Amino acid sequence: MSHHTGLVLDFGGVLTTPLLPAVLDFEKREGLVEGACITALYLDEEGTRRTHELECGAITQGQWNEAAAARLGVAPENLMGRIFADLRPEPLIISAAAAARRAGIKVGILSNSVGLAPWNLYDGYDLDDQYDAVVISEHHGTRKPDPEIFKAVLEPLDLPAEQCVFVDDTADYLPPAAELGFAAVHAKAPQQTISQLEDLLGVPLAEEV
Ligand SMILES: [Mg+2]
Repeated sequence: MSHHTGLVLDFGGVLTTPLLPAVLDFEKREGLVEGACITALYLDEEGTRRTHELECGAITQGQWNEAAAARLGVAPENLMGRIFADLRPEPLIISAAAAARRAGIKVGILSNSVGLAPWNLYDGYDLDDQYDAVVISEHHGTRKPDPEIFKAVLEPLDLPAEQCVFVDDTADYLPPAAELGFAAVHAKAPQQTISQLEDLLGVPLAEEV
């Protein structure tokens, strides 16, 4: 098998710690029933529609905060920032991505946006300097799993999908990527993801201890 020369990484839940524990902590802090947030915002039809609009840049994070706060019965101020307050950078994946670049692999970020203000999920990650391409869905008017947004990251990487590995913690986004030709990796645990990437890219990525 010839090795891949490009790597496309999702952001939330891949370059960061997992989303679900952060959301569960938020629910606890705000006195909500466990699962209230997931149900109201990501499973409910109206909530899902709003989130998709936000990802596509059709509504602002402020508008999303207002609508979501009303559904949850919590204060709207910086709601998205409060929901994800506990998210942290995932150092193993971040250093693996840096190791991949040093080894000559082109690395791009492909992220469904949660809006950029008042709370910027990407703050402090220095994406423009650390990666070869950065595609944030709201700047493209569409969202994963639309094939168009995968093409939007392939173009600046100047690679065909067949040369690239795509990593996402959301399983639903993997089949459309695979259909385009990407090798698709479901991010579950950083160590496991890194060893899968080492096989696909043919370069060592784990931090030396
Ligand atoms: Mg994700």
